[in-house]
Amino acid sequence: MNNVIAVDIGGTHFRVGLFDEEGRRLLVNEHATLRDGGRDWMLQQVRDHCRGLVEKSDYPVTACGVSFGGPVDFERQRVTSLHAPGWEDFPLGEWTRETLGLPCRLDNDANAGALGEFRYGAGRGLRSLVYVTISTGIGGGLISDGRLIRGRDSMAGEIGHLPVSENGVLCSCGARGCLETFCSGTAIAQRGQEWATRRPESVARMIEMSGGVIENITAQAVVQAAAEGNMAAEGILREVGRWLGRALLVVIRLLNPDKIVLGGGVAQAGKLLIDPVHEALDELKSPTIRYSTEIVLAELGTFSPLYGAAALALEAAPSQA
Ligand SMILES: [Zn+2]
Repeated sequence: MNNVIAVDIGGTHFRVGLFDEEGRRLLVNEHATLRDGGRDWMLQQVRDHCRGLVEKSDYPVTACGVSFGGPVDFERQRVTSLHAPGWEDFPLGEWTRETLGLPCRLDNDANAGALGEFRYGAGRGLRSLVYVTISTGIGGGLISDGRLIRGRDSMAGEIGHLPVSENGVLCSCGARGCLETFCSGTAIAQRGQEWATRRPESVARMIEMSGGVIENITAQAVVQAAAEGNMAAEGILREVGRWLGRALLVVIRLLNPDKIVLGGGVAQAGKLLIDPVHEALDELKSPTIRYSTEIVLAELGTFSPLYGAAALALEAAPSQA
C-alpha cells in the first residue's frame, strides 16, 4: 500500500491532501491564499504542508500531483500564467519533484477538475466528460475516450474564452465578448453591484449582506439573495444560465460528451444555476439534432481539482506501472 500527495493551488485558497492508491482522501489541509504573498510565499506553504503530510502518512508516499489555478504548459510542466506575478514560465513540476524528492505531475485546475470528476466523481464509469469550472474565471477540461484533450498549445477547453458576443466588455484575456465576462463569479458580482447602484431598493438584502458597501457585493451574495427569493438576483442568475446554456450547447455540438459537469465556487449555487441552464438549452434545442448529454453538478464540490491532482500523482507514481 502506498499513498500520494495532492496539491491544489488557487487564487483564494490552497489545499494539500494525502490520498491512498484508490483515490480516497485521508488528510486535507486548507488555507487562504495570501494575496500579497506572491510565488515564494506559496511555494514555502506547499513545501511545508507537503512535508508535514509525508511525515503523517502511515505508508510510503510515492508521488505528488499538482493542480494550478492558471494556465499550465503540460508538455514542459511549467506554469505560464501572466496574471499571477512571479509565476510566468515557472517550472513548478520540476520544483515540486526536486523539493519533495518525488515524481510529480502538474496540470491546470480545469484539467485536474475534469480528471478528478472522471475518476472519482460524477464521471465514474463514463468514457467522456467535459468539466466546466465557474469561479473567479471560467475554465474547462475535456476528456474523450478516457483521455484528457490538452491540445497543441495546452489550451484546449478554454470555454471561458469562447467568443459569445460581439459587443461585450473587455475580458481578463484582453479580448471582448468572452463567455467569462457574462458568467464568471466576477461577472455575477459586477451585475449585483450594477443593480445596487441603479436600483438599491430592489436589492436591499444583497447590500445588507455586504455590510452596506456596494463594492463588496460578491457572487455569493447574489446567489444567497436569489436563494431567498430576491427577483433581481434570480434574474441575474437566469441571465447567467442563458449565456452558459448557449456555450454548453456549442460544447455538446462539438464533442457530444456523456456528461458536462459544472464545478467551481459558483456551481455551489446548485439548482439556482443549473435550472436556468436547462431552461436555456430547452429553448435552444433543435427538433432534429437530439442529444443525451447530461448536465450535472460536480459530485466532489470544490474538491474536484484536488482529487484530480491525486489522480495525476497516481499516474506519475512508479508503483502504478
Ligand atoms: Zn477572454
